[in-house]
Amino acid sequence: MTNNPIWPRALIVGGGIGGLAAAMALRRAGCDVDLVEIKPAWAQSGVGIIQPANALRALDTLGVAQDCLAAGFAYDGYDYMTADGTLLNAFAGPRAAPHLPAYNGILRSRLHDILLRGAREAGARLQLGTTVVALSQTQEGAHVTLSDGTQRGYALVVAADGIYSPLRHRLHGQRFVPTATGQSVWRLTLPRPPAMRRGVMMLGESRKAGFIPLNDDSMYLLLVTQEAPGVQFSADELPRLLLERLDGFGGLVEHTRQYVQADSAVVYRPLEVVTLDAPWHTGRVVFIGDAAHASTPHLGQGAAMAIEDAVVLGELVGGGAAPARLGDDYMDRRHARAREIQDASFTIGEYEQGRRPGLDLAALLQRTRHRAVEPI
Ligand SMILES: Cc1cc2nc3c(=O)[nH]c(=O)nc-3n(C[C@H](O)[C@H](O)[C@H](O)COP(=O)(O)OP(=O)(O)OC[C@H]3O[C@@H](n4cnc5c(N)ncnc54)[C@H](O)[C@@H]3O)c2cc1C
Repeated sequence: MTNNPIWPRALIVGGGIGGLAAAMALRRAGCDVDLVEIKPAWAQSGVGIIQPANALRALDTLGVAQDCLAAGFAYDGYDYMTADGTLLNAFAGPRAAPHLPAYNGILRSRLHDILLRGAREAGARLQLGTTVVALSQTQEGAHVTLSDGTQRGYALVVAADGIYSPLRHRLHGQRFVPTATGQSVWRLTLPRPPAMRRGVMMLGESRKAGFIPLNDDSMYLLLVTQEAPGVQFSADELPRLLLERLDGFGGLVEHTRQYVQADSAVVYRPLEVVTLDAPWHTGRVVFIGDAAHASTPHLGQGAAMAIEDAVVLGELVGGGAAPARLGDDYMDRRHARAREIQDASFTIGEYEQGRRPGLDLAALLQRTRHRAVEPI
């Protein structure tokens, strides 16, 4: 491929969805892969995640889409309803491949297990409780010191360290920091009524409730609200606050209220966004996923984009991209697409907060869904 002695050796920083997908993609491309994850254990929150068609296509490339489908709940589209549960419209989402559904709902913990197993079986070396403490670059690559004292040269460093990306901070200082959008999401895993077999979105005055099927037994409830800037809640008050915010919703929300108990594991998250200016690489450090383009979840596309980033990196390395060109080739394939999806997600959140009067939301959703299944 090249006479560079440390090519193709890659370090991936971050063992989330993007990092583990990158470990699989780069191993398939013939790289020697080390992955470091700062957390001391692989624990994941108990809520679910939407896998749209393009995420499933990218996971299929990595050989794990069928595992996700077996562990999750495939569905074809969404029912949009008023807050009282009156059906407004129902749509079926586009597929990215005939053998894959338009959507799959899956518990994050199950997705993580599948990616972790995939990365291990592909032969990546995975190290918990470890991070980068020093990094310098030359023409040939990056010289990295890890927190366990190991020093090693890498031709490629993949920054998959999430929305708060310490590597982004290391290389760019405070120039790119996440900003709050004004919306928050409340999530809770609940029993799934047998008849609930599609996604549901219920549009309230300034709130949106939704349900995503996860498996034969469960679904998750999501509620998007606007909260006062900087407000914080303690974990034990979240179930009560969630119930208060569900007031005014009928239909499936009314049915599920009985399951929101004082000790329910409600997950609350204020939404933030950040975008690294182009290019998403500095020397041999390439940023993927939320570290480069953290989006709001309005299109359920953040993890999908992270997995696509990983697949494209793998394709470029496997296709023999010269190490020095890799970052630019990656930008050519990823930048416009990921920005477009990120912008559309952000715009929907703005619309929901009354900041985009006149927006043709249906047209934006339709356009973006079809854009997402275009070839990457
Ligand atoms: C409320 C909400 C709902 C969402 N729903 C969806 C959805 O339905 N569908 C979808 O596709 N996307 C969804 N997303 C987005 C999705 O969760 C993210 O886009 C995705 O997790 C990004 O993956 P990542 O690997 O880039 O980052 P992460 O998954 O955040 O992983 C980063 C990893 O890096 C590790 N790390 C951090 N710092 C260091 C360090 N210094 N050294 C080593 N490791 C480090 C972290 O511990 C973590 O494991 C949602 C997001 C939110 C907030």
